[in-house]
Amino acid sequence: MEEIRQVALAYYHNFSEDEKYEAYQAFREIDSNGDGTITIDEYEENFGTDHRSRFREVDTNGDGKLDFEEFITLYYLVNSGMVLCDGHGCKVNFLKGLYFTCVDCFSYSKTNTFDLCTSCYRYRNFLHNHTNFLDNHVLMRCKAAYLQDQLSLITSEAICWSDDQAGESESEASLEDFDLLDEQ
Ligand SMILES: [Zn+2]
Ligand SMILES: [Zn+2]
Repeated sequence: MEEIRQVALAYYHNFSEDEKYEAYQAFREIDSNGDGTITIDEYEENFGTDHRSRFREVDTNGDGKLDFEEFITLYYLVNSGMVLCDGHGCKVNFLKGLYFTCVDCFSYSKTNTFDLCTSCYRYRNFLHNHTNFLDNHVLMRCKAAYLQDQLSLITSEAICWSDDQAGESESEASLEDFDLLDEQ
């Protein structure tokens, strides 16, 4: 959690003044009694009751309230689209660091990925109709390689295309001529 907190704060400190104001306004809106902290009740009014453990994780000093700095971590998690473990009844609230992702869902569905914490994947604590899983680190590298392939494909197609345009009819005609010569 500490790592995520540091990332969130790093982002925040690089925010423009407008973005900082926006984050502060979001905080003020949730803090309905305006005492400068977000209680679990105020939190649940906004995020529902399903993510109580997320509140506890973000509440790093454990005082049962979120101050603005703790809220920044939450803000980051909400806005960066947290990844949740899809393992059956998994206790891990959201995934951080390395985890496993279904390659098929990742490749073909832009909105619904199927993700598992290492423990759920290792002990097969899930029901899913696809079987190909990769950890997010490897997946990212594959994705990078794939993008590079696509790029070189596009580039080479462009080269082929310009070659074709240059001398298509001439080269076909000369090949046919050779065939005729061989047969005779
Ligand atoms: Zn899948
Ligand atoms: Zn899990």
